[in-house]
Amino acid sequence: MATNANTRGQSIEKVVVVGGGTAGWMAAAALVTLLPNAFELTLIESESIGIVGVGEATLPHIRAFNERLGIDEAEFMAATRGTFKLGIEFADWGAIGESYIHPFGTFGHGGSDVNFHQYWLRLKQASVAVPDLDRMSMGVMVARENRFALPDRDPASIASTFGYAYQFDATLYAPYLRARAEQRGATRLEGRIVAVERHPEDGDIRAVILEDGTRVEGDLFIDCSGFRSLLLGETLAEPFEDWSHWLPCDRAVAVPCRTSGEITPYTSAIAMPAGWRWRIPLQHRTGNGYVYSSTHLSDEAARDALLAAIEGAPIAEPRMLRFKAGRRRHSWARNCIGIGLASGFLEPLESTSIYLVQAGITALIELFPDRRDSKIDRDEFNRLIDMEYDRIRDFLILHYHATTRTDSAFWDHVRTMTIPDTLAEKLDLFRRRGRVVKYREGVFLDASWVAVYLGQGIIPAGHDLRADAPPAGAVVRAIDTLADEITARVAAMPGHAAFIARHCAMRDAA
Ligand SMILES: Cc1cc2nc3c(=O)[nH]c(=O)nc-3n(C[C@H](O)[C@H](O)[C@H](O)COP(=O)(O)OP(=O)(O)OC[C@H]3O[C@@H](n4cnc5c(N)ncnc54)[C@H](O)[C@@H]3O)c2cc1C
Repeated sequence: MATNANTRGQSIEKVVVVGGGTAGWMAAAALVTLLPNAFELTLIESESIGIVGVGEATLPHIRAFNERLGIDEAEFMAATRGTFKLGIEFADWGAIGESYIHPFGTFGHGGSDVNFHQYWLRLKQASVAVPDLDRMSMGVMVARENRFALPDRDPASIASTFGYAYQFDATLYAPYLRARAEQRGATRLEGRIVAVERHPEDGDIRAVILEDGTRVEGDLFIDCSGFRSLLLGETLAEPFEDWSHWLPCDRAVAVPCRTSGEITPYTSAIAMPAGWRWRIPLQHRTGNGYVYSSTHLSDEAARDALLAAIEGAPIAEPRMLRFKAGRRRHSWARNCIGIGLASGFLEPLESTSIYLVQAGITALIELFPDRRDSKIDRDEFNRLIDMEYDRIRDFLILHYHATTRTDSAFWDHVRTMTIPDTLAEKLDLFRRRGRVVKYREGVFLDASWVAVYLGQGIIPAGHDLRADAPPAGAVVRAIDTLADEITARVAAMPGHAAFIARHCAMRDAA
């Protein structure tokens, strides 16, 4: 292979993606589609190593990602055996026996500078009888009724106030994207990387060497090598910030089973004595897993508890996975950008990993460097990605910390642990007057925080004084009208399974 004559100041002509899991193929497909003809792109993956292959639940942002790549939703859903997801049901988190849904969408129907839940709080605090806040969320009510229809595009319609994401077979998404990426010019190389070569003068990565001796040079390397973090972690020794003192779950056991209940349009996260369990219904099966702390539970006990809890017969052997919560100090170091598990991991409680992959790819495309040494782009990328990780971390910790559970050593630990100052401040503000700290950037918006705060039993002492402006009777009437309107709209929607059968049924059985 010819020697690349680029110096650090010259343009990026060769991009090498290391890894062909969800992160690698998402990155490759997006780069060749959105920056066409800008560089040569080679992706290296090793079938003998394989991919993580779990990761079935997503956030609504994935729709924008797919749209930008020109992916047809119905075709994609059929190919990945996907179902629709309106939010996440959390059972037994604040207290055993309680459950709530974190919906994608709003409570109420906009139109005011004051958050809707403030009006509701005002009435509750005055002991006025009002319906549950859930009844004022279209997303929650559609999910609870196991129905689905696409949201209305007209913002004046109450049916525009919910969003949706997908639940899909994680082993099918990467191959689906691979076909598109290869069509648009990405080159795939099969083989195990056994060595990494660095530029002697500046330490940047120059090439990777495969087991058969093939040498692949690049100007920019995208590390999508999974938990191993082959380039960012192993080669460049970018330190790992360990967050397991806040997020002690470090293992998962996963097993798919036959579906015997509803194909729910939501993911379930059911709290367990040493962690939590997911249930993700797909068209052809249901995905299950128990995410747990190995300090508090043995692998064998976790496996047994999962097998005892699932709804149908298992259709594969349970798989054990190990991980550590945290992230690399920087996701972009030298001429290497870590995306996916290579840059960090936060447990799948709020389905954020594929979102983080997408955030990394979007930031990279926006800041794509014009030279190997591009500090200003690198710093901005790292600021954006660090912020995404930090905010998601706080949101996850909230689920564990805001609990009254005292039934196990695990819950005693997370209930009483010291939390990050950034989260403590947010919690104080909500406790005082229901205020949600607003973000200009980042993933979870006000309604998500409100759902989890209230769902886990954090009840504000007061409310925003602006919510006192309208007469109480008018607020009660508006709330009742809204709840009735939502009930009527939901009742007119098709069932989730019927909607899938009509719009995006998979073509063949598993
Ligand atoms: C228990 C669990 C549950 C999860 N649930 C969700 C969820 O519900 N939602 C969600 O968004 N995310 C979830 N995730 C995360 C999600 O699975 C990952 O973010 C996603 O699959 C991306 O993984 P990846 O591509 O970074 O890594 P991997 O899938 O591990 O891919 C790594 C790639 O690197 C290649 N590779 C590694 N070393 C070499 C080498 N030496 N030479 C050549 N190739 C190499 C491998 O062959 C592979 O192609 C979950 C993760 C876990 C552990």
